[in-house]
Amino acid sequence: QTEKLPKPDWLRIKLTTDGNYAEIKDMMRTKTLHTVCEEARCPNIYECWANRTATFMILGDICTRACRFCAVKTGMPTELDTQEPERVAEAAEQMGLRHCVVTSVARDDLKDGGASIFAATIQAIRERVMFCRVEVLIPDFLGNEAALQVVMDAKPDILNHNIETVERLSDRVRARAKYARSLELLKRAKAMNPKIPTKSSIMLGLGETFEEILKTMDDLRAVDCNILTLGQYLQPTPNHLPLVRYVHPDEFAALKEEGLKRGFRHVESGPLVRSSYHAHEQTDSAVAA
Ligand code: SF4
Ligand code: SF4
Repeated sequence: QTEKLPKPDWLRIKLTTDGNYAEIKDMMRTKTLHTVCEEARCPNIYECWANRTATFMILGDICTRACRFCAVKTGMPTELDTQEPERVAEAAEQMGLRHCVVTSVARDDLKDGGASIFAATIQAIRERVMFCRVEVLIPDFLGNEAALQVVMDAKPDILNHNIETVERLSDRVRARAKYARSLELLKRAKAMNPKIPTKSSIMLGLGETFEEILKTMDDLRAVDCNILTLGQYLQPTPNHLPLVRYVHPDEFAALKEEGLKRGFRHVESGPLVRSSYHAHEQTDSAVAA
């Protein structure tokens, strides 16, 4: 149980703020904009915002699924807000973003899973903020290939879909998702547009073994996934999936080496790494490759 595991030193964060962060924070207060960075109390917010990177959650804040690691509320989602793409684009413009990540809850209640709103958001950001890269972190759309095509047709700079954990733990960690379906999505995205780098993420500390992580990396490389992020799982509340262990930074470093050896163009690996951490650098190396 997490309560019994003392928090290691490497998870203590030094709070540094710089001019860019303070400036954006002030603006967020006056404009009442919402980002995952703030709502999830992400520890990387100072660094990300200073680097003009932020993550927006679209399609509401209530999810049709209830993955056991995730703090997002579960229930009947709110009505679709067709103005949302424009509002996100406006926020990205006001924040002066250079890298914008757009993600969503899983909307299994919608026929296209919300794909058209993702596409409209990509387009709206492109129109307003010319030099901002757009990364989408999408749900699996229940395997709906046409929905994925709608997103790919809008040409995001990065197509991100998280596998989250190793195959053995997948059913336990995210019951309504499927390990094979996530791999299939990444494979299809690459087939639809080989030029768009694909990306995925694994949470560590849920009981997976080193070998199982390597196997997951191999599975991701087999579908030509280009960018990988590895981070420490932190149990949001006592009701969530228990944390099994804190992974040492040396192990994260060893995994990064293993990932690069396997041909990922960029691997971001560390206790505080989140899917969008250093996203601008990940894209730089993926696009340059
Ligand atoms: Fe926001 Fe992602 Fe950076 Fe966290 S890692 S502050 S959620 S952009
Ligand atoms: Fe959280 Fe995504 Fe699972 Fe919904 S689908 S519960 S937002 S991880």
